[in-house]
Amino acid sequence: MVLRYGAEWSRGQQHIGTGRKPQAVGLSAVPAGALSKQAIARELGLSIPTVNLLVSQLKEEGLLTLQSGASTGGRIPEIAYFRYDSQYVFGLEVTDHHLRIVLIDLAGTPLFHAYHDLPFRKEQSYWIEARSLLYSIMKQRNLTPANILGVGVAIPGVVRWDLHQMDFAPTLDLRYFDYRAVEDIFVLPVIIENEANAAGFAESWLQSRDQADGIYLSINKGVGGAVIVDHALSYGINRRSGEFGHMTLVPGGRRCSCGKEGCFEAYCSTRVLADLTGGDLAAFFRRKGEEPHLQQVWETYLRYLAQAVSNICVALDVPVVIGGDIALYLGNDFQHFIDMVEAMIPFSSHPYVSLSSAGADAACVGAALLLVARRLQLLPGV
Ligand SMILES: [Zn+2]
Repeated sequence: MVLRYGAEWSRGQQHIGTGRKPQAVGLSAVPAGALSKQAIARELGLSIPTVNLLVSQLKEEGLLTLQSGASTGGRIPEIAYFRYDSQYVFGLEVTDHHLRIVLIDLAGTPLFHAYHDLPFRKEQSYWIEARSLLYSIMKQRNLTPANILGVGVAIPGVVRWDLHQMDFAPTLDLRYFDYRAVEDIFVLPVIIENEANAAGFAESWLQSRDQADGIYLSINKGVGGAVIVDHALSYGINRRSGEFGHMTLVPGGRRCSCGKEGCFEAYCSTRVLADLTGGDLAAFFRRKGEEPHLQQVWETYLRYLAQAVSNICVALDVPVVIGGDIALYLGNDFQHFIDMVEAMIPFSSHPYVSLSSAGADAACVGAALLLVARRLQLLPGV
């Protein structure tokens, strides 16, 4: 199966393969949601015999249907419809205190989501409980395992998906966990991905598809991120690319959870704010309008965040998307924040900084989309 990035399958406003939008040229006789073989050949720079071969492979796998198109005077064209509903994918987000579940189709359209207060346990029984939640969703929707492409799982930790291994997830107290054990329990293909990488991938795929490169910053209790290069995640030598939270922002500064001093995370974790209002981040933002000392803390917080973002902009010159819990609250002060970032950048160009709109399900949607991308070979190196 060789449907790589660059193949665009229009489906109203959604299309698989990020980046370029489908070309309108030559498609006037083709209904929305389909491409003629000639258009596919033109889009991908392939010969018609090669397209015929690929199309029949995809048809055999149930991913395409072929129909005769309307004649425009010459030969009646064959139109290929990508079947986004031919299979579905589960996305899970596992944290120390909750389990989120989404079900998406192959275009990333969310069909179902749920949030469970289910603290993680380092026992087989945790995954068995998760399996029964998945299988009950399948039952409700009349789906069988054959309808499910697999399960993408987002976790707060370092993952070696090429080795099927979770290397280190401190908040889950996991080290060197071979996740094929989860695959055996689910009886479905499973991939596990770092949650910031997964959320960044969802952002890149669904929200910022016109941008080939970018940085996603995930600002929650922990601070992390993802590096997107040519629409795919860039992992780095040790699979730790995007660990922005442990860049030093203040030499000799506050102690960080990693043991170092002065890390970005020590200044911009949402704990810095929530700890002042009994651990409740929403309460911090409710109260800061009436309590000047909270407003002052917020201003200081914004300055550190602006410093880190401007450093990233200066170093990489790519769009930066800010996600995680802080994205819900930064909107009201966003122009003020952008002015701060701009003042810290020594060039006249405007920084491309925006807030994530991928929402609270971003990590589990991203983990599910990564499974789609890997299983269908949509992107090289994901
Ligand atoms: Zn640190």
